[in-house]
Amino acid sequence: MNPAVRRNADRLSSRRPYPKDGPADGFTRIPPQHGAAVELAPGDVLTLVDPLGEQVSDLYLVRVDEPADHFSVGRTIDVGNTLYPSVGSILYSGRSVALAEIVTDTVGVHDLTLTPCSQQTFDLLYPDLGGAPHRSCFANLVAALEPHGVAPDTIGGTMNVFMDVWTDADGELHIDPPPTAPGDCLELRILEPVIAGITACSAEKSNNGTCTPIDYRVTRAAGY
Ligand SMILES: [Zn+2]
Repeated sequence: MNPAVRRNADRLSSRRPYPKDGPADGFTRIPPQHGAAVELAPGDVLTLVDPLGEQVSDLYLVRVDEPADHFSVGRTIDVGNTLYPSVGSILYSGRSVALAEIVTDTVGVHDLTLTPCSQQTFDLLYPDLGGAPHRSCFANLVAALEPHGVAPDTIGGTMNVFMDVWTDADGELHIDPPPTAPGDCLELRILEPVIAGITACSAEKSNNGTCTPIDYRVTRAAGY
């Protein structure tokens, strides 16, 4: 079992009620296996909600003013000194610019180690699929971010929100279903102008067999 799940047991029991039949007021729904992009300014708050439970959302941030500089899992792990960012953790860019701070987190379990799922992920890891076309977070991030001038090859490691990945004593990686229930959320306060790419992950295996939606809301900073 992921030690971060055990450590966050109290947090996991403090879930909020969330509507069953559609996004809550002010939220936008990303359909299963799709993605979205939204431009954010400093002071904005981005809220990601898992409306049905057990669903991963890949998040990628690219600086508006310096598009070559984008979210870095390595810098975020280095500075935060943790593989499991939560409230107070800062998401950094490759140039170590602070992009966003986690201000609310009802889960405490998010992955920084795995890349967004891609067609090649399914081809290499799931040969049973026979190379059949499969929707993916990478393709959805490309589709969402390309209109904002983000080149596909610059999309690297994402923050895999709600994803439960852990390493056992032998160093083997394990992917467990997200420990989320309907309404679990992560909130980020934006510190730098960014384009955020957000997905409802397409990999059945990462989402306990069923791909479901992700809801998001942007609360704009006063005066923006
Ligand atoms: Zn995915």
